[in-house]
Amino acid sequence: MSLSKNQIAKLLQLIGTTKEDSMDCECCFDRLAEFAEAELEGRSLCEAMMAVRTHIESCPCCADEFKALLDGLRAIGNTDDC
Ligand SMILES: [Zn+2]
Repeated sequence: MSLSKNQIAKLLQLIGTTKEDSMDCECCFDRLAEFAEAELEGRSLCEAMMAVRTHIESCPCCADEFKALLDGLRAIGNTDDC
């Protein structure tokens, strides 16, 4: 069986790996802390941070990690005396 380029592109799209702005989990983890801080402070998100958010929305694994990180940051914030 041989697939045309078009069919392959469609397949990859279904799997969700062709989006140019998609990032892998490792890349997401690298920016997760920065993203969590930005979220907590209500900072506007730059393009890289938007990509992190997009990834979290489609990746339950990173979403879990992000939630834990957010909880941790909030806990730190609550005990902050400043
Ligand atoms: Zn992920």
